[in-house]
Formats: sequence, C-alpha cells, structure tokens
Amino acid sequence: SYRKGGYHAVRVADQFAAGRYIAQRKLGWGEFSTVWLAYDTKTSSYVALKIQKSAAQFVQAALHEIDVLSSIADSDPPNSKFVIQLIDHFKHTGPNGQHLCMVLEFLGDSLLRLIRYNRYKGLPLNKVREICKCILIGLDYLHTDLGIIHTDLKPENILLCSTIDPAKDPLRSEVSPILERPEGNTNCGVTSLIEKRLKRRARTAVAKISGRRTSTGGIGDVAKAGRNLDGIDVRCKIVDFGNACWADKQFAEEIQTRQYRAPEVILKAGYSCSVDMWSFACIAFELATGDMLFTPKGGQGFSEDEDHLAQMMELLGKMPRKIAIGGAQSKDFFDRHGDLKRIRRLKFCPLDKLLTDKYKFSVNDAQEFSEFLLPLFDFAPEKRPTAGQCLQHPWLNWDEQQS
Ligand code: ADP
Ligand code: MG
Repeated sequence: SYRKGGYHAVRVADQFAAGRYIAQRKLGWGEFSTVWLAYDTKTSSYVALKIQKSAAQFVQAALHEIDVLSSIADSDPPNSKFVIQLIDHFKHTGPNGQHLCMVLEFLGDSLLRLIRYNRYKGLPLNKVREICKCILIGLDYLHTDLGIIHTDLKPENILLCSTIDPAKDPLRSEVSPILERPEGNTNCGVTSLIEKRLKRRARTAVAKISGRRTSTGGIGDVAKAGRNLDGIDVRCKIVDFGNACWADKQFAEEIQTRQYRAPEVILKAGYSCSVDMWSFACIAFELATGDMLFTPKGGQGFSEDEDHLAQMMELLGKMPRKIAIGGAQSKDFFDRHGDLKRIRRLKFCPLDKLLTDKYKFSVNDAQEFSEFLLPLFDFAPEKRPTAGQCLQHPWLNWDEQQS
C-alpha cells in the first residue's frame, strides 16, 4: 500500500504543514489512511494526524469527510462533546502523491480494544451504561441537530477519551503493516525523547492483530486499567466520518460493516438515521457479552445475506411479511409468503434467554437489558426509538433509580 496513490510513509519526527505538526508515533490505520500522534508546535498539544492515501478516490473521500467534520465542528461545542472534532486540515506532498491530512483531537483506545482487553468476557454493566450514554448523546446530536447518518458504527469507530499524557507515558506499539521504525533526525526536544522510548519499545512490539478487524490504535489507557476496568473513565467519542451521509442526501446503497448492518440495508428498502440505532444496539450487546451478536456466514446453497436475515429472525422472531417482501432485493431471499427461500428451519432463541443461558446473566439483568435493546431491533425502522428517546430509558438511568 506504500506506493503511488497509497499511504504516505511517515517517520518519527517528520514535519507537516510547514513545521507546525511533528509526527510522534502511529496510532492506527484504516483502509483509507494512517493516523499518527503528532505534536502541535503552535498550541503545544498533542493531536491525531490522519493522513489519507493519495489516489483520486481517497482524496475525494477525504474531502467528503472534511465536509462532514466541518459541519460538526461549526456547531455548538457543548452539544458536540461526544463526536470527534476536526482542528485543521491541509495537503501534504510526498513520494506517493498528494495526501489530504486531517488534524483531529487526540483520543485513546477504541472500544474494540476495551472488549479485547477484557478477553471478550464483556464489561461490567455499569460501564456498558456509561458508554451507551456517550454514544447516544453523540448520535442524538448527529441525527437531530445535523441530520447526519454515520453509517459505519462499530466498536473500532468509538474511541475512549484518553487520560494519558503522551509526553509522559511510555508508548506502546502495536505493529501495523508498515515501517514504524524510528528514523530520521532526532534533534527536536520532545520528539527525540519520545523517539528514544519508541526505539526501546519497538524491540518488544506486540505482533500484528489478526482477523477481520483492520485498525490498531490506542495508546494504552485500557492496558493501564485494572481487570474490572475501574480505572477507566468511560467517556468516549464517535469517530470516522468517511462514510457518513445526510438523511436527505445519501450516496451509497450498501452501507455499514456486515455484523452491524440493519435488515433494511440488506433488503435495499431505503434507510435513515435508524440504521445507526440498529448498529448501536449491536455494539451495546457486544460490550456486555464480549461477543458479536450477528456473525453471518455463507453456506451450501445460501448467501451470507440470507444467513444474516435468518440469524436476526432466530433472535427477534419472524420478520413481518410486508417488511420482508418490501425491499428491492427481497425476492433474492424471501418467497411471497415472507419465508426465507433457502433456510427453511429457524432455531428461535429470544434475547433474554440467550443472555441467561449463554452469558450467565441473572434473570433480572437479562430482562432489563433485553427491554432496553429489543425496541432498537424492531424490523420496522420507523418504530425504533431515536437516540434522544433511548436516552430516557430506565435501563440507562438505573444508577439514579437505585440511589
Ligand atoms: P479510516 O477512515 O482509514 O478507517 P479511521 O478514522 O477509522 O480511518 O482511523 C483509523 C484508526 O486510527 C482508528 O481505528 C483509530 O485506531 C485511530 N484513530 C483515528 N482517529 C483517532 C484519534 N482522533 N485519536 C486517536 N486515534 C485515532
Ligand atoms: Mg475506520
């Protein structure tokens, strides 16, 4: 990917925007970009520098993301607290072409890392509640105030607010597909300090993560916290607006990462802000159990899409016929009675039973958590609660009820 049109190879201490930003270490990467911790010499603070690949389609995508992020940054800050803020943007020319760069506020570990760190066992429910509240406030702001649909909500796109001072804390490094080796000049104060540490750490670098997930990221809050995550401040923010659209101006038919995809997207029945609510509910389940809720796979004679619909119905009951046959793609999956064409026998297991039997929730916890989640998994998108309505739900305000 480090060729013409691809990523820009960054070395520690590289300078950007006429020397304003100095690269410190890599924070993560995605399909479109690498993201670096950088020191902002103008404000004497740390920022995240997202450096896009340089080919035309990535430039286009970055321009779009800057457009969306600008509308977020333009509005009232108190309301936008749970959504990433764009600080600056500029172009950077390198051997692989011209890269659009976004300067973002520096955040910490992703929820994916938090889930992994807890060995996929699920987080304590009070932490799940706190995280859910942050995501919902962020979503309410995006949906209600701005009319923006994120369209790619998933644990790696929610980042914890970092409590770490990058200048003081030892840097961890998780190797990603490229050179993270510190090279280049070392004569710049804070940079050389960090660079020395980085050299030391590079020798003990952790192996590359595997599986479907792409990005690494984070700077170690999670690893610092105790097993029960008591040390973790669970405020978090929604990031990655590369795929976002407006409710009244959509670009793609196929949206969302597979496991977090809403049924109307599979059926191509049109979508709205409520697709984010479906993904949100999938994330909440994953936080509480450590497992992804839906993990569809294609098989003998049926597609991944059909398996996905089958898994949804096994959990939530049969899809109402009108909805099942109502999408442009419905005929691929459903017969005219509203039954799946190829997967004929479904093994129903309601959510509260799944939570008690497989995840050993108490009957009470399972019941309350299901009551919170199930309305969000309504097959009729317009019946799902909005983020604002969801914030009123008793499950989220459980702590207050107890005291
Ligand atoms: P892409 O559009 O290429 O998928 P993302 O915006 O998702 O890029 O960023 C890739 C990764 O970089 C994220 O998963 C995260 O690990 C890290 N990252 C992104 N933004 C920040 C930030 N503001 N602070 C810290 N790390 C970040
Ligand atoms: Mg991403």
